[in-house]
Amino acid sequence: MALIVQKYGGTSVGNVERIKNVARRVVGTYKNGNQVVVVLSAMSGETNRLVALAHEASEFPIGREYDLVVSTGEQVTIGLLALALKEMGLKAKSFLGHQVPIVTDSQFGSARIESIDGKNIMKELDAGVIAVVAGFQGVDSEDNITTLGRGGSDTTAVALAAALKADLCEIYTDVEGVYTTDPNICQDARKLKKISYDEMLEMASLGAKVLQTRSVEFARKYNIPVMVRSSFSNADGTLVCKEDKEMEKVVVSGITYNKNEAKISVLRVPDRPGIAAKLFRPLTEAGINVDMIVQNISHDALTDLTFTVANSDYKRALKLVSETAGEIEAQDVKGDPNIAKVSIVGAGMRSHAGIASKTFEVLAGEGINIQMISTSEIKISCVVDEKYTELAVRVLHEAFGLGKEEIEEEKG
Ligand code: ADP
Ligand code: ASP
Ligand code: MG
Repeated sequence: MALIVQKYGGTSVGNVERIKNVARRVVGTYKNGNQVVVVLSAMSGETNRLVALAHEASEFPIGREYDLVVSTGEQVTIGLLALALKEMGLKAKSFLGHQVPIVTDSQFGSARIESIDGKNIMKELDAGVIAVVAGFQGVDSEDNITTLGRGGSDTTAVALAAALKADLCEIYTDVEGVYTTDPNICQDARKLKKISYDEMLEMASLGAKVLQTRSVEFARKYNIPVMVRSSFSNADGTLVCKEDKEMEKVVVSGITYNKNEAKISVLRVPDRPGIAAKLFRPLTEAGINVDMIVQNISHDALTDLTFTVANSDYKRALKLVSETAGEIEAQDVKGDPNIAKVSIVGAGMRSHAGIASKTFEVLAGEGINIQMISTSEIKISCVVDEKYTELAVRVLHEAFGLGKEEIEEEKG
């Protein structure tokens, strides 16, 4: 008997008919002799709706009450699925985060899971019950409800799989697996049979929202095989697992984009020690993550400093930075929320030269200006004007031979 954790995303539970469809899949897995833990998201669009309501009530909705509001969508779906499973003759029990319990830190809005006690769930599984757990939410040491950041149900699922020592974690979504790029913007995108934890981690953190970054961190740390597949078909999915020799041969495995970032530039900052620390400290204290940072060469002891933050933090970050800019006598602060980060990812880049120059040439060929660049061993990221995102993704996807045709030709 295997223990399988199945997570279904928002589209897969978008209405009661779809929840019944999920119930049929769960029944099938259970009747094949497996113990099943199901993790659910809220219905598609529901968390966005809740976030918008919070913004109507408050200019900067953060903290305990924000998490209380945005976590409620999952309570509805788990209740409905448990009802549907019972209707089909199975034993099922729904669990909110605190009923598991899934204990997190108190970083509201992006809490990290600290521990999961699997005892309550194991007791139910051993009694033949299907456990249906709310994704995205946890509880901190003071009994406050917390949420794990957008897309956090993936992390709930993988973390539960680790805590329960599950044999497999299946992530059911609205595409058939992990593709060379987002199949919804590039028809040529090719489904990958397998992808290494490291590459998936890069793809996720660079915007491939098919898996939340932290879920991949958990999978890698605890060596949990994760199968990404569709809840609308029986097609084979993509296995996220340890790197093997075959994977190393691929130079570029995917192109990602992230439109959820904004750029802030602090212009003509006095170039002296401690200035960067002063600018970024208030952001850190406010729990705002800074992504790319570029500082120009200084002229006349003045320099420009540009960085990116998540769109959801943009207004707060702009306000905080403008305050500090006054204190450090910077000339001006400019913000631009209409940017996108387009990235090329591949483990083989470690041993291949020329990927960066090819990337820049391809973008230049389309007249796309690169505003910022950052690189790591296995990725190159460029910030461009948001309106060029799809174009940039498509031309890079083609230039690096990731499309269906190229691969088929190679085989032939
Ligand atoms: P769910 O609601 O099931 O969690 P998400 O919307 O969070 O689904 O993630 C699935 C979406 O991720 C797909 O619909 C697709 O548009 C997007 N996506 C982005 N990059 C990729 C990629 N490389 N492979 C597959 N899907 C991707
Ligand atoms: N419902 C949450 C969100 O929309 C969590 C998730 O879907 O994974 O971000
Ligand atoms: Mg998701």
